[in-house]
Formats: sequence, C-alpha cells, structure tokens
Amino acid sequence: MPDIIRLLPDSLANQIAAGEVVQRPASAIKELLENAVDADATHIKVIVKEAGKTLMQVIDNGKGMSETDARMSLERHATSKIIKPEDLFAIRTMGFRGEALASMAAVSQMEIKTRQPESELGTMICVEASEVKRQEPVACEPGTSICIKNLFYNVPARRNFLKSNGVEMKHIVEEFQRVALANPEVAFSLYQNDLETYNLPAGKLSQRIVNLFGRNYKEQLAACAEQTGDISIQGYIGKPEFAKRTRGEQYFFVNNRFVRSNYLNHAVMNAFEALLPEGSYPFYVLFIDIDPVHVDVNVHPTKTEIKFDDERTVYAIVSAAVRQALATHNITPALDFSA
Ligand code: ADP
Ligand code: MG
Repeated sequence: MPDIIRLLPDSLANQIAAGEVVQRPASAIKELLENAVDADATHIKVIVKEAGKTLMQVIDNGKGMSETDARMSLERHATSKIIKPEDLFAIRTMGFRGEALASMAAVSQMEIKTRQPESELGTMICVEASEVKRQEPVACEPGTSICIKNLFYNVPARRNFLKSNGVEMKHIVEEFQRVALANPEVAFSLYQNDLETYNLPAGKLSQRIVNLFGRNYKEQLAACAEQTGDISIQGYIGKPEFAKRTRGEQYFFVNNRFVRSNYLNHAVMNAFEALLPEGSYPFYVLFIDIDPVHVDVNVHPTKTEIKFDDERTVYAIVSAAVRQALATHNITPALDFSA
C-alpha cells in the first residue's frame, strides 16, 4: 500500500491555526493591540471600518521591525519574545506564541508598514491568504502599522458566521477597553468609520477609567492595594451602591493580561458579602502581579484563561485586598438592628 500522510502546506496549516486565534474581528484587534504594547508603543491608534469586517488598522509608534523581521513575523511560530523552554515560565509580554500575524495573514489581505526609529526607510509588505504579493522599502513613520482588510474573505463559512456590525463592534470595543485599561500610560484612540469614538490621553489608571466609562465613575472608586509575599494587588473597586444589575464591568488583569476567572470573581464577591444588593455586580479593575513562574498563560491560544499553581492563596489575597479597600473607605455592612 502507498504511504498517504503528507505535511500540510504552510498556508493551509496557518488557515487551520487561524480558526483558534482569530474568531472574529475583535480577536484580530486584540492581537494587533497586544503586539503594539509589546513593541513599547506610547501611542496607539485603531481604525475600524464596518465593525472590522472590511478594514482594521492598528498604528503604533513602537520599536518597529527590520526588513528581515517584518518578513519573518508572518511565519508561524516566529517570535522575538521567547527563545528557550524556560522562557515560557517567565513571560512578561502579551504575545509569545508567534502565531497571530501568520494566522491573520492566512485569512485576510494584510498590509504591514514598519520602520525602526534608527532606520531611514521602512518596509512595506502586502500579503493575501499567506501569499506575499509585494515587498518594498517605503518612507513611513517610525513604528508599525498593520492593516487587515476583508477578514475571512477566503473562508466563506467564517465570514458568513460573523454577527451584525453592532455585535462585532461591541466585541471590538471590549477588547479595546481591556488593553486600554491595562496600559493607562499609553495613549489610545479609536476611529469607527472615520469618526473618533475614543481619545485616551496617557495618564493614571483612575483617569483612564473615567475616560473610558464616564465622569460619574470618579467619585465611585475605592483604591485597592495589597502586597503579600510575591503577589501584589492594585487597582480600584466600585463602591457597593454603584454596583449594577448587569455584569460586564469586572476586570482582572494578571501580569497586565486581561483574564476571565469565575474563581477570582468569587473572591471579590465574597469580600463584598452583605454590602451588595441581591443580584448586583460591583465594578472592579484589579491588577494581580505575580512571579510568572506561578502562572501558566499557555492554556488557550487567546490566553484569557490562565492557571495559577496556588490559586487558593491568590483567592485569599484578592479577597483581603478588597475587604481592606472597603474598610479604608469606611464601607461596612449596615447594622442589622433586627438581631
Ligand atoms: P507574538 O506576539 O506571539 O510574538 P505575532 O505573530 O503576534 O507573535 O508577532 C510576531 C512577531 O512580529 C513578534 O514577536 C514581534 O517581534 C513582531 N511584531 C508584531 N507586531 C509588531 C509591532 N506592532 N511592532 C513591532 N514588532 C511587531
Ligand atoms: Mg502577538
């Protein structure tokens, strides 16, 4: 019998991998924003047309790429962020898997313009469905601009699966808000169909919260800070009377990465205890800083799930930090005279 197993061509392998990394326009925005942050940008501009379905562009003033690196960045498992197995346990960057650009380039028409500040000329690369169509030197600003056009144009099943512009835009704004919250020292702007919808100057976290969510948040924040061993918690919780009937404004960042965790959410709720009206959810933006050896961020390609080696300790510290913040702000449960 003849042998029948073959290695997939790169373009097909990338397209398959893209299924996990890029689910919708918002996933591409997240990856592009994280790359800009990893490149030490201090100013990041996002342009979105038709909820990202026709165009998404992220322009940063970060360290840019050399000509060779620009080409290399499109290869799968190509990254500047880790080199050896031990590095997986010391991750401080948002990216490290080296598959985002390769995945996005496999399912869109992508244009990269990038220049290192010390180089005179930059590089432009145009890719369609993993195929490099053009590469040439270009005069451009220092930093990187990556433009993704017609996401999933070559994967009709995916394209048809996209939701309405309203829904897709909501997801994009969520990703934008998360990265903007995690990096208040970076200025961000967001343009939707040529209209500027966010303009966030660099500043403090409290200012970022107000700029993102509204001026009425200012009076409602209680600062939270706790340091125990090699874990530190800082950020803000909303006062109990500010709690809402709907979820959605609960943010946990572990080493600056937005994560979802019912377990950690429970730690916060537990600290609020009787202070919260039944069925309401407090606002919080909490940053957990922990030695990366104690966290596995490599649980899922989108990295919003993580694993702590000792989650009970983290739970206890989060709970203590929130209790402390409530106490410092003289927020205690109302006395129950019926007892
Ligand atoms: P990862 O972020 O996991 O390394 P990506 O596919 O997102 O993988 O990016 C591949 C590489 O391309 C990065 O490691 C980085 O060196 C480079 N790169 C991507 N985006 C930028 C950017 N905006 N500025 C500078 N370098 C970038
Ligand atoms: Mg990346």
